[in-house]
Amino acid sequence: MTHPRAAAPRRLVRTPRHAVADRPFLVIWESTRACPLACLHCRAEAIPRRNPRELSGAQARDLMDQIAAFGRPHPLFVITGGDPFQRPDLTELIAYGTGLGLRVAVSPSGTPTLTRQNLTAVRDAGAVALSLSVDGSTAARHDTFRGVDGVFGLTLDGWRAARELGLKVQVNTTVSRCSMEDLADIAALVHREKAMLWSGFLLVPTGRGAALDSLTAQETEDVLHFLYDCGAVMATKTTEGHHFRRVVLQRAALAERGELPRTGALHARLTARAHALGLFDGGHRAVRRPPMDVSSGRGFVFVSHTGEVTPSGFLPLSADNTKHRPLMDIYRESPLLQELRDPSLLRGKCGVCEYKTVCGGSRSRAYAVTGDYLAADPWCAHRPPAWQQAGEEEESPCAQ
Ligand code: SF4
Repeated sequence: MTHPRAAAPRRLVRTPRHAVADRPFLVIWESTRACPLACLHCRAEAIPRRNPRELSGAQARDLMDQIAAFGRPHPLFVITGGDPFQRPDLTELIAYGTGLGLRVAVSPSGTPTLTRQNLTAVRDAGAVALSLSVDGSTAARHDTFRGVDGVFGLTLDGWRAARELGLKVQVNTTVSRCSMEDLADIAALVHREKAMLWSGFLLVPTGRGAALDSLTAQETEDVLHFLYDCGAVMATKTTEGHHFRRVVLQRAALAERGELPRTGALHARLTARAHALGLFDGGHRAVRRPPMDVSSGRGFVFVSHTGEVTPSGFLPLSADNTKHRPLMDIYRESPLLQELRDPSLLRGKCGVCEYKTVCGGSRSRAYAVTGDYLAADPWCAHRPPAWQQAGEEEESPCAQ
């Protein structure tokens, strides 16, 4: 494929209104690691009980004060877990955050706590959105992945209740060898149940996720193209799939020339299945949602249950702790986060890639696979011209 920058307008990819060196667009707080599930991919390696060292209510309110101090428009604040409903002060904290003017979203687990009553309390406290995990299109597939029977039904009930309550629902799907052949069926479910947004989370082999089979780079490419195709009928995005932005630019350039992408067998199978399910047949068309240009430490930051600030939930290197240093100072001054915001420091093929300023690859995956957070993303099939000219070999057995 040719370099699309000249042909593709910049608005194909959104950028935050404020400089990403100045303030994050998104802050995710792991409110607790307590969760009754035992999901195969769990980053947090969740545990049944709350850790006594997790942020207290007062420390959590202090964190929200620190986020509000970035100024308006405030970063979006997502409360995740574990299962946030394991914190008895959850709605109190949501109300405090919304009182400060933060836009608060909650990411609960599909447990018996996901009731209409609890969701009503979350909505009434001011939360604007909910994100839920759906990793299989059927109860059998999803519950196997999540490790507990009944989770699929609880999630679907919670999803429908949240929608009826006026909460926007984002659905997250872990893309791994366990789910890749089921993605068209999951897409059809997401479309049918009218989620606000479907996010394909490209697995980072860390935590329990390290034990799952990784996709090859070509299979990953096929999934990204399938997510792009689904963008014609519903809003789609990726998590830890930064090269989706490269695919969006490439597809737009190809479309202008009336050409189709050269994709692999997985894309063909997913497309055929999606057509068989009627996913692309008329009906509800969506305005394609441009992906947001943020990545680990660059517009995005994660605060752990104990207050450690890391570039993402999947890159377990601490920049400092909000218990004793303000998030604003950490975000702006941490050498780790500053390094991650500098694409000129990227190594391997990401370092010479023509898309490095708009993509840059998953720093979390690079770290999980190679131990070097500036190394190339091993799940990217793109072959930058400068890389090929240098006659370099691919860097990872994943990148076939
Ligand atoms: S080589 Fe790196 S920067 Fe280029 S598209 Fe792939 S992941 Fe992105």
